[in-house]
Amino acid sequence: MLDVTPAPHKLDRLIPFTGSARAEQLTDAVAASRPLLDGRTVWNVNSTAAGGGVAEMLAQLVAYGLGAGVDTRWLVFEGNPEFFALTKRLHNRLHGTAGDGGPLGVTEHELFLQTTRPEVEAILSRIQPGDLVIVHDPQPAGLCEAIANFGAVPIWRCHIGMDDPNPYTNEGWDFLQPYVSKAHAMVFSRGTYAPTWAAPEDVTVIAPALDPLSAKNAPMSAVAASAILGAIGVLDTDPTGANYMRDDGTTRTMTRRAIIVGDEPRPGSDAHLVVQVSRWDRLKDMPGVLSGFLSGVAPHHPQAHLALVGPSTVGVVDDPEGQQVLDDCTEIWHGLDEGLRGRVSLVSLPMDDAQENAAMVNAVQRHASVVAQKSLMEGFGLTVAEAMWKARPMVASMVGGISDQVVDGVTGSLLPDPADLDAFGAAVLALLADPQLAHDFGERGEQRVRDVFLPDRQLGQWVELLTRMAARMQRSTVG
Ligand code: UDP
Repeated sequence: MLDVTPAPHKLDRLIPFTGSARAEQLTDAVAASRPLLDGRTVWNVNSTAAGGGVAEMLAQLVAYGLGAGVDTRWLVFEGNPEFFALTKRLHNRLHGTAGDGGPLGVTEHELFLQTTRPEVEAILSRIQPGDLVIVHDPQPAGLCEAIANFGAVPIWRCHIGMDDPNPYTNEGWDFLQPYVSKAHAMVFSRGTYAPTWAAPEDVTVIAPALDPLSAKNAPMSAVAASAILGAIGVLDTDPTGANYMRDDGTTRTMTRRAIIVGDEPRPGSDAHLVVQVSRWDRLKDMPGVLSGFLSGVAPHHPQAHLALVGPSTVGVVDDPEGQQVLDDCTEIWHGLDEGLRGRVSLVSLPMDDAQENAAMVNAVQRHASVVAQKSLMEGFGLTVAEAMWKARPMVASMVGGISDQVVDGVTGSLLPDPADLDAFGAAVLALLADPQLAHDFGERGEQRVRDVFLPDRQLGQWVELLTRMAARMQRSTVG
């Protein structure tokens, strides 16, 4: 088990974005929680320190928790490739798909428990009775029982799910139930994701939020974004001034390059970038974005260029499907004629410096004319809030948490059928052809994020839940 220690962020750095009334409300809530939270540590356990929405959000929650004076920690659960293949299967089942189609039987429970065992020891050597332990997603879910038996409070935070359960989701839940039912509370990004057996009083809904001052979302000039895209090899633009702000407020110059399939000839600054930023996960449907672009956008808009952007597949340890999905896209790309090849870049961003990677994503999102998130399923989809925060117009699937973010016809176009490539292409094309509409969608998207998806809302909900759980623990100890 690894310890990750983000630097603390004071809550008042959010004031320029939230205004002082909202910031004060949060500070008051934290102050009111002190009698119950002081003396307890709030632990978070997930399975990766970088790559994907959970790591992104934890960096923020832990930093602001520490800044607010709550002793907040982050641990990373370790497993081997076989274990992560199993948990990816579970992830896919909870999203209603077969994934690799493998079983979830006795052997898989044995593998799950065997991987969990040393991690139980590792966590029990760190926590104290009375602590609050937030266990994120299926990978570390097997820890809940030991945490509860130790006298701490396990809270299971599930970032994935599906609105309409099907036989696959049921299989996933059947596997997980013995583990996660040991948690004292469960938190979902949407209410519809809770399994049918979860008692309503044990379920809390907390949608994620983005940090407006992280390297991923911090203000960045159009000139700097264009220079960064030049420096990393995505665009044929002048790389001079490829500077970005790190989370600690210092400025650095971009040093690394992306690995790009289709890097020559590079599109120039006049290209209209259509972008999807995602892990290389089948459910994000990068190949579908590629096909929809090739058939519905490229032939009709000579300046449109598609960039599919994901983390370098060597950097994301808990996502064994990544390389296969990238390979599938690469195969499609190799099958194109030369003219079309020059219209598409498959971009893998280096992950060895999380801040630099985040700034690359920041630049890509900011420079995009249209941002797509054509997921087939989506727990929340932080990339959507990230793009809207940068005032980008969205074309996205009407699935899961995306529907909570994009307001159809107001901040973007929502596609009722994520598999409808014609509708996808038409929606992208419509925005490329109507810069005023694209601009209006973008502006309203930014406002929507300001209203609903900034950290004060999320932190407030966590403070409320943690205080409630600590109060319950105190009552049971006294009783
Ligand atoms: N992301 C990143 N680097 C990349 C690609 C993606 O940091 O090269 C980030 C992205 O900006 C977002 C997160 O990974 O913050 C993805 O979160 P989301 O909720 O969209 O999906 P998840 O990966 O959790 O399924």
